[in-house]
Amino acid sequence: MADTGRRAQLAASLDEVRERIARACTAAGRDPSEVTLVAVTKTYPADDVRLLAGLGVTDVGENKDQEASGKAAELSDLPLRWHFVGQLQRNKARSVVTYAEVVESVDSRRLARALDGAAGRHRDRPLDVLVQVSLDGDLARGGAVPGGIEAERDLWQVADAVAGSAHLRLGGVMTVAPPSWHPDLAFEKLAEVRARLLSGHPDATVVSAGMSGDLESAIVHGATHVRIGTSLLGMRNKLR
Ligand SMILES: *Cc1c(COP(=O)(O)O)cnc(C)c1O
Repeated sequence: MADTGRRAQLAASLDEVRERIARACTAAGRDPSEVTLVAVTKTYPADDVRLLAGLGVTDVGENKDQEASGKAAELSDLPLRWHFVGQLQRNKARSVVTYAEVVESVDSRRLARALDGAAGRHRDRPLDVLVQVSLDGDLARGGAVPGGIEAERDLWQVADAVAGSAHLRLGGVMTVAPPSWHPDLAFEKLAEVRARLLSGHPDATVVSAGMSGDLESAIVHGATHVRIGTSLLGMRNKLR
């Protein structure tokens, strides 16, 4: 049974988020249809995802394989696009490729290879992949580095590896702004990385950037996807 109170709450916050996206697009001279909302539903139950889908949400993001695979199975009757946005271990590649349409957090050549192998065996169509960009070089937070000293985690090499994989499609870039940076600085830098990537990979047009606290800045700087959790669903209990 859908909870009508929860539905009303989600409808109101979804309206607010859509309004924020529309205002940011207007301010940037962009069309709101250029920006896809990805609802990041981690820690929230499948019932919430079902309510959001009923309210018109088409794209959802999760950051843990176990949680995501359970929800995707429970909601397999819905035409949702699942985005995997968290740090991913290679031994989870097989599971993730069975429900995700997009893996946004690819940050090493090894992971690209694992996903390519798994997608070849367990999917009937290519997997969309975004390369996660580390803007501050803090590899513990995930991401590949533009001009990285380690080839495995060098952004350009990871992008080339994805683009050269039979079962992967290089969609573009994703980032999480470093916590201590002003979002404008982070997303400006991401736009430069994206421009350089596009010169070698003209189809890699996706820019996944912007979360609850910084979506306006991300849209000004060219985000095509914003990943919104807290502003839609509420504060999460655990820090994750
Ligand atoms: C949790 C998460 C989000 C959503 O963050 P909010 O601040 O709750 O909107 C976006 N992207 C990634 C990678 C996340 O892990």
